[in-house]
Amino acid sequence: MSTAHLSDRVNGMATSATLAMAAKARELKNAGKDIIGLSLGEPDFNIPDFIKEAAKQAIDDNYSSYSPVDGYADLKEAIVGKFSRDNGLHYEPNQIVVSTGAKQSLANVAMVMLNKGDEVILPAPYWVSYSDIVKLAEGVPVEVPTSIDADFKMTAAQLEAAITPKTKMIWFSSPCNPSGSVYSAEELESLAVVLRKHPNIYVVSDEIYEHINFAGTHVSIANIPGMYERTITVNGVSKAFAMTGWRIGYIGAPEWIAKACTKFQGQNTSGANAIAQRATITALKAPVDKISHMIEAFHKRRDLVLGLLGEIPGFKLNIPEGAFYVFPDVSAFFGKTIKGSTINNASDFAIFLLEEALVATVTGEAFGNPDCIRISYAASEASLIEAMARIKAAVSE
Ligand code: PMP
Ligand code: GLU
Repeated sequence: MSTAHLSDRVNGMATSATLAMAAKARELKNAGKDIIGLSLGEPDFNIPDFIKEAAKQAIDDNYSSYSPVDGYADLKEAIVGKFSRDNGLHYEPNQIVVSTGAKQSLANVAMVMLNKGDEVILPAPYWVSYSDIVKLAEGVPVEVPTSIDADFKMTAAQLEAAITPKTKMIWFSSPCNPSGSVYSAEELESLAVVLRKHPNIYVVSDEIYEHINFAGTHVSIANIPGMYERTITVNGVSKAFAMTGWRIGYIGAPEWIAKACTKFQGQNTSGANAIAQRATITALKAPVDKISHMIEAFHKRRDLVLGLLGEIPGFKLNIPEGAFYVFPDVSAFFGKTIKGSTINNASDFAIFLLEEALVATVTGEAFGNPDCIRISYAASEASLIEAMARIKAAVSE
């Protein structure tokens, strides 16, 4: 037996670096090491009680059979309502597909939209799974590097230069995982100016962090003229409602794309978990201020972490306006030997922090930026203060 007997598909795939680092941190913790895990992007809050109650009620109401593949009709209505209330987007229920996490929503879209060799533009840094999801669908990820000095945002000129006759899609998240950058209406409009010249290019707009935005209003690119007909708006309840393990994501898209995703999902996994879907109806109908305590806490922690990291020489920072990550450029450490460890790249640095500071982060290489590491601040203030102190001590000789 050997991995050579596995498919080329899986052998050619990278393991999710976020999940791998979280597993490694868990393993070390179980072995008795005092690890502070800042690798995984998941809120450390409990699910709000009113959502838990809805799930309990759904069990008592015997929501135990298969749901429609694309989601319960009243959940799709609730999603239509959410898109209208929060994003000013008008979708019909037949444009909505509910899936097992936004990750499955993204995988569905890749599988129904991409043919072999189709290019997908990924402004880098991008969320860790985009490139492997695209590759699984036989698409070709085309990374467009952005710099910390440009707040990790792709300009219209960069987009234009990356377009070829093979370009099929562009995928991006705003607020961005991992950089925390938020595209303004003006910046989205400037990208749309380029896209309007290329009517066959589709957009995946991953808005899963929309509520975790400290800069002001979230803007959906589907709201920019000419974009609605070719945008797949991806969202989910993992981040806003701290429901990561409940696995509900969804899309709003042109009907023909939604239909294709439903067909694909129907041969793969069927409808998403029934109880979690019922609870999501309650979550999405609740006023947004029900989750404002979490957003306020993230904002406070961002400022805390920026302040503490800013005191450590060698960490170059942008000011993330959303999500719950900082993405410092740590290339100043490359080529140095610290406490006996030689640091040649961001992966070496992340391993060094894990071993020397007992702090788990993720290498930027996994996100398409080899100069940075990602630190999640979805952790208590006390553990963030302790983690930053350990990092400071580890890198100061
Ligand atoms: N998109 C982005 C940008 C993410 O950060 C994540 C996970 N954290 C997802 C999609 C997938 O979310 P889920 O599958 O939990 O809905
Ligand atoms: N998306 C989260 C992260 O970026 C969770 C892990 C994952 O799904 O890869 O850390």
